[in-house]
Amino acid sequence: MPILRPLPERLLLGPGPSNAHPSVLEAMGRPLVGHLDPEFIALLDRLKAGLRTLFGTSNAMTLPLSATGSAGMEAALVNLLEPGDTVVVGVNGVFGGRMAEVARRAGAVVTTVEATWGTILDATEMADAISFVRPRVVAFVHAETSTGVCQPVEAIAQAAKQVDAMLILDCVTSLAGRPVELDTWGIDAAYSGSQKCLSCSPGMSPVSFSDRAIEHIQKRKTPVQSWFLDLSLLAGYYAGAKRTYHHTAPITATYGLAAGVDRVLEEGLEARFERHTSAAKRLIEGLEPMGFECLVRAEDRLPMLTSVRLPERVGTLGEAAVRTRLLDDFGIEVGGGLGPLAGAIWRIGLMGENARPEPVDRLLEALHEILD
Ligand code: PLP
Repeated sequence: MPILRPLPERLLLGPGPSNAHPSVLEAMGRPLVGHLDPEFIALLDRLKAGLRTLFGTSNAMTLPLSATGSAGMEAALVNLLEPGDTVVVGVNGVFGGRMAEVARRAGAVVTTVEATWGTILDATEMADAISFVRPRVVAFVHAETSTGVCQPVEAIAQAAKQVDAMLILDCVTSLAGRPVELDTWGIDAAYSGSQKCLSCSPGMSPVSFSDRAIEHIQKRKTPVQSWFLDLSLLAGYYAGAKRTYHHTAPITATYGLAAGVDRVLEEGLEARFERHTSAAKRLIEGLEPMGFECLVRAEDRLPMLTSVRLPERVGTLGEAAVRTRLLDDFGIEVGGGLGPLAGAIWRIGLMGENARPEPVDRLLEALHEILD
C-alpha cells in the first residue's frame, strides 16, 4: 500500500490552516527550479515587494522565511535580544506566552504583562511596565488566535517609543485579513504565517525587520544563538546583487506563497478586510440564535477568528463529539479551545479564501442538523 492515499476534501474553519485557492495549489505543482536559479531569485524579489505592501512597510529586509510562523517568532526575538537584555511581553493567550518562552530561552530577562484570556492587554499596564523596566524590546500579539482578540497597537507602540525600545509584533493571523501598518505603527520586527489569511499551505513565515532593527543586529556583541535564523546570514541569500547559498529554499512552498500574495494584491487589501468583517458578522448572526455566545466583546473581536462559548446542547452531546461529527459527516473542521479555554469554547476561523458567505452557511446548516 502506498503511503500517500486519497484524502478527504475538508472545509477548514479552524484556527488555521485555511483552504488554499486552486491558483495556489496550481502554483505548487509547477516544475522545480534551483534555489539560485535567476528566475527563482527574481520571483523572490517580486515576492518580497508584495509582502512589503501587505505589511505596510518599506523595510528592505522583508522576506519569506523558510519555516512556520513559530520560526518567524523566534527569528524576531533571537535576532533582537542578547543574553541579559530586558523584554516586556504582553500575554493574553497561547502565543504571547510562547513569545515570552522564546525570549527566556534566548537568555533575556522577561517581564510579562498578563491579561485574562479573551480580553485585550491593558495599554496602561503595558505602558507602566515599559516605563518601569525600560526594556530593549517590547513584544505582543496583534491577533491572538487562541482567543480571537485583536490587540490595538498604537498606545503600546507609543509607550515603547518613549523609552526607545524596539517593538516586535506577531501578525501571524492578522496579515491580509486586517490592516497591518508596520511603518505607521513604528514596528521593528514582525512575522506572519502562510496558512491563515494568505490561504497558502503552512510552512512559510513572511517576516519584516526595520532598518533600525538591522543596525541593532549588526552591533550585537554576541552571535545570534540560532544559526538558521541569524538575519545577517540570511541576508546573503535574500538581499544584495549577488546571492549566495544559505539554505535550500522551499521552492514549491514559495511558488504557493507567491500565488497567494498575488491573489491578495489583485483583490485589494481594503476589499479583503471588508470581506473578512462581513463574513464574521454573518457567522455571529447565525450562531447567536443557536445559543453560542461570543467570548470577546464586540470592539475587540478579530474578524478572521471568532471564539464562542458553547450552548448547553453542545455540552450535553460533548463538544469534542460534535466537532468530530462536523468533521466526519460534513467535512468541516472547527477548532477547540486551548489552555484554560479547552472544552469551553470553539474557535471558528474564516480566514482568507474562507471568509465568504458560502462556508459560513455550510457550517450553520451542519450545526442546525446536529443540534436542532
Ligand atoms: N502566532 C500566532 C498568533 C499563531 O496563531 C500561530 C499559529 O497558529 C503562531 C504564532 C505559530 O505559527 P505556526 O503554527 O505556523 O508555527
